[in-house]
Amino acid sequence: MDPRPAPLTSSDLGRSPLALLVDRDVDTRKMYAEYLRLSVCDIDEADDGREALAMAIAHHPDVIITETRLPGINGFDLCRLLREDESTRGIPIVFVTGDAFATDVKRAETAGADSVLVKPCLPERLANEIRRLLHDSRHLREQARAVRDKISDQMSRSEGVLNHSRGRFRRTLLNRAHNRRDTLDPPAAPPALTCPACDHPLTYVRSHIGGVNEHHAEQWDYYDCGAGCGTFQYRQRTRKLRRIADRPVD
Ligand SMILES: [Zn+2]
Repeated sequence: MDPRPAPLTSSDLGRSPLALLVDRDVDTRKMYAEYLRLSVCDIDEADDGREALAMAIAHHPDVIITETRLPGINGFDLCRLLREDESTRGIPIVFVTGDAFATDVKRAETAGADSVLVKPCLPERLANEIRRLLHDSRHLREQARAVRDKISDQMSRSEGVLNHSRGRFRRTLLNRAHNRRDTLDPPAAPPALTCPACDHPLTYVRSHIGGVNEHHAEQWDYYDCGAGCGTFQYRQRTRKLRRIADRPVD
């Protein structure tokens, strides 16, 4: 069994892979770009190191192909800078260099290159190398996973919104059905009570039905003291009687 993971396709990413192609020579760029666009990936082009660095940070290409000899920042320094930046650290880098000396190859590898190809290099060879790197790219796999996570996150979020609105709809119905009201015919019989101040029997006035919803309805019974001690409120749930006004109200 092949232990290597299946090659990534554009549908894993939700897009085609993107390569940043950096070479000061416009003909070389054009040759590679045309071939790669047809066979492997989309292409960003830059003709110097500074522009390449800016594009890499802005576009997060899936692979970077660069000459070692560049105006401004050379390929080695570009590579080092990309490796230092959190957001570009994992991007595979291929050097395609006219410097065929072993020391240059070594230097490219030290700078953090994943692969070094020596010019003249056929576009087909470069395309194969890019395919291999994209296949193995952790960066790309992380991006593909991020896309999947984002999609599943969006799905669960929209489900949450749906459930939430269903819940709100239900609660609205319950609250409408839950009829808060004053009544003389409450669900629970108002008890016979005596005035805590003067011991006279209290006169039942009315009840109020309230509470958060019909499952948690509450009943308050209101009484007046005939001797003028005030108005009292009896809470059915707690069975507590308290004076709410010094004189009878209403
Ligand atoms: Zn009283």
